[in-house]
Amino acid sequence: MIADKMKGFVKNSSAIRAMFEEGKKMASVYGAENVYDFSLGNPNVAPPEKVKEAIEAILKEENPLEVHGYMNNSGYEGVRSQIAESLNERFGTAFGVENILMTVGAAGGLNVILKSILNPQDEVITFAPYFGEYRSYVENYDGILRSVPPHAPDFQPDLAAFEEMINGRTKAVIINTPNNPTGVIYSEETITRMADILNNKQKEFGTDIYLIADEPYRELAYEGLNVPYLTKYYDNTVVGYSYSKSLSLPGERIGYLVIPDEAADSEELRAAANVANRILGFVNAPSLFQKVVARCTSASTDIEYYDRNRKLLYSGLSEMGYECVKPEGAFYLFVKSPLEDEKAFCEAAKKYHILIVPGSSFACPGYVRIAYCVAYETIEKALPYFRKLAEEYINN
Ligand code: PLP
Repeated sequence: MIADKMKGFVKNSSAIRAMFEEGKKMASVYGAENVYDFSLGNPNVAPPEKVKEAIEAILKEENPLEVHGYMNNSGYEGVRSQIAESLNERFGTAFGVENILMTVGAAGGLNVILKSILNPQDEVITFAPYFGEYRSYVENYDGILRSVPPHAPDFQPDLAAFEEMINGRTKAVIINTPNNPTGVIYSEETITRMADILNNKQKEFGTDIYLIADEPYRELAYEGLNVPYLTKYYDNTVVGYSYSKSLSLPGERIGYLVIPDEAADSEELRAAANVANRILGFVNAPSLFQKVVARCTSASTDIEYYDRNRKLLYSGLSEMGYECVKPEGAFYLFVKSPLEDEKAFCEAAKKYHILIVPGSSFACPGYVRIAYCVAYETIEKALPYFRKLAEEYINN
């Protein structure tokens, strides 16, 4: 009775989620304090106090029929204009209410934009390693995901290979910076060159190619590094933002899309996205949390917390002989697997109750991802076991 297409999705269902379930099982057997679960990007910093204050104030002060009711499928106008204003202040853009569409997290936003633009067999390009769900999202609308091979060891996108891959059926390109799983931030130079390539290819094929910026980690950039705001570099950009990581609200499912006036067929695209939000069954983004995030445009997560973890884990593992990509943002460390078969290394780590994710989940075998959005003590306690693994697999 299950749809054929769904059978495929179930079969390839995320190894990360499976690992998360395994972690819960392990915790019930060995005690949570003896399991070092680095599998999931679930923030370990509580939402800022401002979030709680906003929830309380909204429930106390605002009309419950309005707070919990239906609204325009794109979201409350007041919320959207506040978000537009805050972006304009931060990035010198000129967005208005009509450029913002509230979504059910980044995942909802990506599905809305892909539903809006893809015809069957249209191609979408992304860069490995990439968030594995992109494949499902593109295939949801019978598109074809093509991926540019990873560019080790710096994991900046391979632009020559990218240029080769673009053809007349290329409808969109998805980029994710700061990146899950590498933590790499694409430099301004990379973005400028990418924009040049896209502009030239649009001319060559007489098509429009949307650049979709998947930005759940925008606020998680270390050492004051600049994350270029892509609408300023390339007209056909659509930004997908999420509060899942920036305000630690992944379960609340709240984010937004920015569709600028400069994007091709902007008005039609916004109308399509509005309808897509509805007919995908989201109808609209969660009403209470739209209002919450509008009151929290100046709030931020505790980046120092993640930075402390980053430093401990990166320096600890590097010193043991692991080859790691130094993360500049997000909360992931991407490590070259000491065993060629990284799945076997992830299995080996389990004997010390360490849970890490194979790079093949991100189309990059031979590497593993360690999510360090965990307690500092978890890293401290896990390091001696990483050392044992290094002694067994690197230094023997
Ligand atoms: N895109 C990337 C790169 C992610 O890492 C995630 C979640 O981890 C998402 C999208 C989905 O985010 P959201 O919870 O906002 O749907």
